[in-house]
Amino acid sequence: VTGRAERLDARLAEHGVDALLVTDLVNIRYLTGFTGSNALLVTGPELRRFVTDFRYVAQAGDQVCGFAVERAPQDFLAAVRDGWPEDRELRLGFEDQKVTVRQHQRLQELLPEQVELVAAGGLVERERMVKEPAEVEAIRAAAALADAALTEQLEQGLAGRTEREVARALEDGMRRRGAEPSFATIVASGPHGALPHASPRDVAIDRGTLVTIDWGARLDGYCSDCTRTYATGDVPGELADVYGLVRRVQADALAAVRPGPEGKDLDALARDAIAAAGHGDHFGHGLGHGVGLEVHEGPRLSATADDELAAGHVVTVEPGVYVPGLGGVRIEDLVAVTADGHDVLSGLPKALTAVG
Ligand code: ZN
Ligand code: ZN
Repeated sequence: VTGRAERLDARLAEHGVDALLVTDLVNIRYLTGFTGSNALLVTGPELRRFVTDFRYVAQAGDQVCGFAVERAPQDFLAAVRDGWPEDRELRLGFEDQKVTVRQHQRLQELLPEQVELVAAGGLVERERMVKEPAEVEAIRAAAALADAALTEQLEQGLAGRTEREVARALEDGMRRRGAEPSFATIVASGPHGALPHASPRDVAIDRGTLVTIDWGARLDGYCSDCTRTYATGDVPGELADVYGLVRRVQADALAAVRPGPEGKDLDALARDAIAAAGHGDHFGHGLGHGVGLEVHEGPRLSATADDELAAGHVVTVEPGVYVPGLGGVRIEDLVAVTADGHDVLSGLPKALTAVG
C-alpha cells in the first residue's frame, strides 16, 4: 500500500480539502492494508490517523503501515473530535456516498468549530480505478482460480444437474482452491437465461439448450468476474444465431479496449451492433464495469459513462442478448488496460461449446 495515501493527498489538494475522513472499509483496506471490520481514518498531508476498536488493535499494528494506530473511545465516532490544530480553519472531506445522515449530524456535533465538513465522496475510489501491477496480478490469479473451478464442473457435464447444484459445486470448488466467491454465482438455463441476473433454481438443466454461468473468485481481497454460455447439445437455430451475434460483438468491443475511449464509446459500439441485428430491446445493461477490491467499481462502461479508459484500469466486457421466452447469451471477459492496448485475464474459450 506504499504511496497510496500520498497519491490521495494530491487529489485532496485538487479538491481543496485538507484531510479526508475515510469510513468505507474497502477504501480503508486499500489505503492501509487493514482487513478488519471496524476502523476509520483521518488522512491528509499532515495527518495519518487510524482508529479501531480494542478487538483490532493488535491486528492493525501488524497490518497498517504509514498511519498512527489508535484505540477508539467507547463512542467510536468521537475519535474525530481530537487532534486538530487550533490556530486555523480546516476543511475535512467525508465520503458523502457512504456516511449516513445520522452520522453526518453526529460529526457536525463532535467536530470543533474550526473544522468544516465537506462532501468529498469517491476520491479513494478514483485512486482505486488505476491498478498497480501487483493488483493486476492478484486479479489475474483470482481469474485463473475461477477458470480452474469452472473447468472442473464442465468435466462433470451440466445437463441433468440442477442450476443450484452446479452453482454450489462451483462455489465449493473455488473455496477448495483457497478463494471465496466474489458474488452469488449465476447459473441460468433455457428460457431462464433471458433474466440477466437470474438466481439458480432447483430445476434440472435440459439437454439441447443454453446455460449461462456468471461467476468469480475473491483471492487475497481481489475479485474476478467472468461469464460463459454453454450448449447442452444441439440448440435451436435462433439461439445459435444469438450466440454468434454476442460472440462477434464481444470480440469487437474487446478489441477496442485501450487507453483513450470513454466508457460510453465502447458501450455504444456494442449496443449499436446489437440493435442493428434487431435485438436493440434485448440488451438492457451496461457493457461492463471496473473490478478490483470490489466486483463492481469504476470505471463504468455504460451509455452515460464519460470516464476515459486509462492504463491500469481493469474492466469487464460483457454484452448480452436476452430474448424473453427463448433464452439468453452473455459473454464476459475481464481485461486489463495496458499502455498500448489490453491484456485479457479470462482464459476460457468463447466458441460455442457443447457440454454434456
Ligand atoms: Zn459477471
Ligand atoms: Zn460483470
